[in-house]
Amino acid sequence: MTVPPHPLLRLVALHKRYGAAVAVAGLDLEVAPGEIVGLLGPNGAGKTTVLECLLGLRAADSGEIVLDGSDVRTHPAEARRRVGAQIQPAALQDKITPREALTFFAAFHHTPADTGELLLRFGLTEKADAHFDTLSAGQRQRLSVALAFVNRPALLILDEPTTGLDPQTRRALHAILVAHRAAGGAVLLSTHDLDEAQRLCDRVAILHRGRLVAAGSPDQLLARTGAATRLEFRTARPLPAATLAELQAAGREPGQPPPDPSAAYRIRTTEPTRAIAALTQVMQSTGNELRELQLRPPTLEDAFVALTGEGWDCDREVAP
Ligand code: ATP
Repeated sequence: MTVPPHPLLRLVALHKRYGAAVAVAGLDLEVAPGEIVGLLGPNGAGKTTVLECLLGLRAADSGEIVLDGSDVRTHPAEARRRVGAQIQPAALQDKITPREALTFFAAFHHTPADTGELLLRFGLTEKADAHFDTLSAGQRQRLSVALAFVNRPALLILDEPTTGLDPQTRRALHAILVAHRAAGGAVLLSTHDLDEAQRLCDRVAILHRGRLVAAGSPDQLLARTGAATRLEFRTARPLPAATLAELQAAGREPGQPPPDPSAAYRIRTTEPTRAIAALTQVMQSTGNELRELQLRPPTLEDAFVALTGEGWDCDREVAP
């Protein structure tokens, strides 16, 4: 695959309203060849609206959308030539089969991907000739992502592609996206799965009520928000309050010790190694026993909470 010198996607000041409700409030975003970028946000954050605008399924109110170096308004066909897309929900005719659907989509392109190879890559060979209405939700989802690959795209735009997939299929799809990246392609995917974003994405753009609240690699976002590691431990005998205060001082961040009947503790620390060293030293010098010790590194959920001051609640629709 030849790698163009320009970003595959450039969004500048994208705005979209639904009536009085603001769905996207001035989004800037770039996606370069060789990276997987996650558009991350809870339900209602504006992710689907962004993807639909850049695919031309919705008209943006204002802003610039450049795909593969071409403006989507002035050169729509050229802009989308090397873009493959999967948007929720995948709706195909009940009686079409995966093989027919892939063959049908392939007919629109000069040099499409091989249908048999796509069926194999997406684990659909056995179901190649089954009617769409007999496929499981996971098989439908895989077919809809496979369709995004038909035109051998450079940029894949995927709307929550792993929703409804079992863990094994999810891992297989991640591997396909990683291979696409390794070949110089790029991926922009929306997700409200924080774990997926942290594991898979080179960069994450966090949307909250239509606004970009932060963008960067997961590590950069965690460092920027100063999210702390949680140290959870249980001791044979309760710790004196003074000892606990010392440990918290070693961790530099205020801890949150629960009431103490079970001798279970939780400390938040930006220096876990130092806090663990202090903890083991206290255990040895007081003849106490450490029963359990768990280190929970900060997650993007911690970063989201730090950035927005709100909890991550994907079951709740957020009012714009
Ligand atoms: P989800 O993860 O639930 O798909 P999302 O982040 O993709 O959410 P959008 O679907 O883009 O969010 O919705 C953004 C906001 O715009 C929400 O408040 C939603 O209710 C609103 N919205 C979306 N589509 C429409 C529409 N056709 N008419 C009016 N409001 C809409």
